[in-house]
Amino acid sequence: MFSLVRGSVCAHLARRHAHSIPSFTHLNAVTHDDLAHFAKILPPNAILSTLPPNLNSADDLVPYNVDWMGKYHGQATTVLRPRTTQQVSDIVKFCASRRIGIVPQCGNTGLVGGSISLQKEIVLSLGAMNSVRSFDPVSGVLAADAGCILESLSDYIARYNHIMPLDLGAKGSCQIGGNISTNAGGLRFLRYGSLHGTVLGLEVVLPDGTVLDQLSTLRKDNTGYDLKQLFIGAEGTLGVITGVSILTPPAPRASNNIFLALPHFKNVLPLFQTVKRQLGEILSAFEYIDRTAYDMGLEHGLGPILNPDEVGDAQCFVLAETSGGNHDHDSEKLNNLLESLMSADEPLIYTGTLSQSPGQFASLWALREGLTECLQKEGKPYKYDLSVPLAEFQNVVDAVRARLISKGLYGDHGITKVMGYGHVGDGNLHLNAIAKYGYRPELEAALEPFIYELVASHKGSVSAEHGIGSMKTSALRYSKNDVSIEWMRKIKHVFDPLNIMNPGKVLPSV
Ligand SMILES: Cc1cc2nc3c(=O)[nH]c(=O)nc-3n(C[C@H](O)[C@H](O)[C@H](O)COP(=O)(O)OP(=O)(O)OC[C@H]3O[C@@H](n4cnc5c(N)ncnc54)[C@H](O)[C@@H]3O)c2cc1C
Repeated sequence: MFSLVRGSVCAHLARRHAHSIPSFTHLNAVTHDDLAHFAKILPPNAILSTLPPNLNSADDLVPYNVDWMGKYHGQATTVLRPRTTQQVSDIVKFCASRRIGIVPQCGNTGLVGGSISLQKEIVLSLGAMNSVRSFDPVSGVLAADAGCILESLSDYIARYNHIMPLDLGAKGSCQIGGNISTNAGGLRFLRYGSLHGTVLGLEVVLPDGTVLDQLSTLRKDNTGYDLKQLFIGAEGTLGVITGVSILTPPAPRASNNIFLALPHFKNVLPLFQTVKRQLGEILSAFEYIDRTAYDMGLEHGLGPILNPDEVGDAQCFVLAETSGGNHDHDSEKLNNLLESLMSADEPLIYTGTLSQSPGQFASLWALREGLTECLQKEGKPYKYDLSVPLAEFQNVVDAVRARLISKGLYGDHGITKVMGYGHVGDGNLHLNAIAKYGYRPELEAALEPFIYELVASHKGSVSAEHGIGSMKTSALRYSKNDVSIEWMRKIKHVFDPLNIMNPGKVLPSV
């Protein structure tokens, strides 16, 4: 039923190409002597290790060894927390000489097991590098250390009436270096675009310890290859990002939102077209939530947003946001939109609500933003962030649920809920399947590669936002052809021939 993927050809190609990457199992574990060397670079409180002489407990390392979902459990014995780029460089240089693997880590909120060590690597945590380096209120260019928390940066520039070009549910913990390394999308993507456009410069410590200073604040610079682009979304496999310069837009003077209940999924696309036509340039987000996700949000206290009687049997919901320059003008546009939607001969919506105050604005967003955390409370979520054609969003969710039912794995004993929500404006579906009683191999086997084959059959992407990490290395081939993967390997080999930088992530092992 689904298009065949060239897995065996890919594996064959990988075996014979000249740029094979050494397996990370040939890397060395940290020793007592290594710790003594790290102690020459860092103060004692910047080194955590279960090895002597530190003898920290394994519990001390849990925040670095276990990911946000509790799905990936790392093996690192040692965590290093540098404060300066020079310290990062010294550490990396030493690790290269000793063949010690390095996992760069910022907020550890990644959702694909990219920030967790797989074997004997150290965790290089950037969290202590958390200073703003400069901000120019005229150009809006912010330069900051990689370990700055996204929300702290937002707060910092808010005093100059600027906002960060990205926003996501993890903003209170994720850090800008991690955001850039995962090329995070998030809730403002529709308006401000990708980090490939807004990041102006990076400072990166390369796998041999060299500092690549490309911390440009120029908006235009056509002097040859744009190397920084390679590190955006590289998930720590090409180097350690230590500094960032990023273009921040002025804060919109007026932000409004509406929340709409739709009878059927098939109304989402015509609604999107109508909303784009009527709101034009002030539309800044168009988010989709299916009924299962909406009900889960309500069960966890994120509503009610709409009158339950008016919602009736609505199959899905849409949150649309405007960001413009004139509150009354934007509000009037939204009001007109809502009225025209409600009074149409064949209405696309059952009902809707328009925020009337900053408090209401925040509570409409709270349901959408809170869904990821609700999933954690429900059980263990299998999370897939997919790019598929908009028209297929619901079909993909339904196909996965049907697959689980056919395998006898849908229900309390297996997957209790399958749901979809996401950024319609970006063609990005977040598909989630909740295992109430924990992750189990037979559940994963029912979901993968089924979901990846489904995505490939729609010519989609197995990762719209979260990246590949260690979770999807074998799924990379569903979205990248052999030639692309071969060139990715060549690039990795040029930067990191010893494969010390986040080994086992992104590229499938050879
Ligand atoms: C509640 C919640 C909501 C989320 N919402 C979204 C969303 O809307 N959109 C979206 O795109 N993602 C979302 N995510 C996932 C997203 O990938 C992360 O939240 C974020 O971008 C990762 O930042 P971090 O600082 O936690 O990075 P980490 O988790 O620490 O690291 C992520 C990856 O980047 C690498 N890395 C980290 N720091 C560096 C560095 N300095 N140099 C080189 N490599 C580095 C790591 O090795 C790892 O591979 C969400 C996650 C959560 C928990």
